[in-house]
Amino acid sequence: MSLLDYRRKRSFDRTREPEPGKPAPRGQRPIFVVQLHHASRRHYDFRLQVGDALKSWAVPKGPSYDPSVKRMAVEVEDHPLDYAGFEGEIPKGEYGGGHVARFDHGVWSTTGDPEEQLAKGHLRFELFGDRLKGGWHLVRSGKPARQPQWLLFKDKDAWAGTLEADDLLAEVTPPPAEDRKRAGSGKATRKRLATVPVPRTRRKDWKKRALALDGSRAADAPDGPFQPQLARLGQAAPEGEQWLHEIKGMATASSPPSRRARCGCGRETRWSGPTAFPRSATR
Ligand code: MN
Repeated sequence: MSLLDYRRKRSFDRTREPEPGKPAPRGQRPIFVVQLHHASRRHYDFRLQVGDALKSWAVPKGPSYDPSVKRMAVEVEDHPLDYAGFEGEIPKGEYGGGHVARFDHGVWSTTGDPEEQLAKGHLRFELFGDRLKGGWHLVRSGKPARQPQWLLFKDKDAWAGTLEADDLLAEVTPPPAEDRKRAGSGKATRKRLATVPVPRTRRKDWKKRALALDGSRAADAPDGPFQPQLARLGQAAPEGEQWLHEIKGMATASSPPSRRARCGCGRETRWSGPTAFPRSATR
C-alpha cells in the first residue's frame, strides 16, 4: 500500500497531521478509526488498518445501525497508522482544512484475506469500538474510478437498530463554530449516546438447540481429528458457569480415551509441540 498520495496532498510544515514513515507494530490486531471531519463539507472518515496503512473512505452521513440504510463511502487515499491518533484543526487553505475529531476507534477483524475481499469489492468485517460494534459490509458500487464509490452498511446482527452516527456524538469534541457554520452540523438528534447499549441476548440451551436440528442425535465426541472452535472477541461475559475465558492461546482439542492427544489447531497453525499437556490443560 502506498502513502505517496497522502504525502503529495499535504505540506507537513503547515499541518499537524502525522508524516508517514513509522513502521507498523508487529503482532497486534488491526485497528480502525472513525473521525468526524468538518472540512468544506462535514463528513465522517472511516479508516481500517490493512497491513501498514489505513484504508480510508469519506462517508458524508456516517455509519448507520440500520441494515437497510446504505451509506455512500468514497474511497480516498491511504493514511498512515499514526493518523488514528490525530485530532485537531487542519489550517484553512490546506488540504482538508477544518476540524477533525475522533469519533470512535478500536480493533476490527474479518474472516479471510482483507485485501482479497477489497479487490473483489465486498469486505465483510466486525468492529470492536465504543460506538461502532458488530458486523458491517463495504460493497463497491459502480464503475472503476479514481475515487471508487462504496456502500457502507450494517450487518443484520444483534447490534442492528435505528441509531445513526449523529446520535452518538456525546463526548466527541465539537468543532469550532466557524467550522460548523461552513461545513454543516449534521442530523438534529435527541439521542446523544457515548456508547451503544449492549443488546439483550437470551440464554441459549445449546444442547436443546443442537438436538432440534434435522437428523441430529446425542453422541460422544468424535474419535478422529477435528477442528476446534476458535475464540472470538466478545462484548460481554456469557451467563452461567459453563464458560472459561482465554487471554491468548492456541486452540487444541483432544479426544479421550486415547492417551495420544489429537490436536487440531487454529487456522493454518499446526501443533508441533509435545503431546504431554499440563494437567489443567487436559481436563
Ligand atoms: Mn476527511
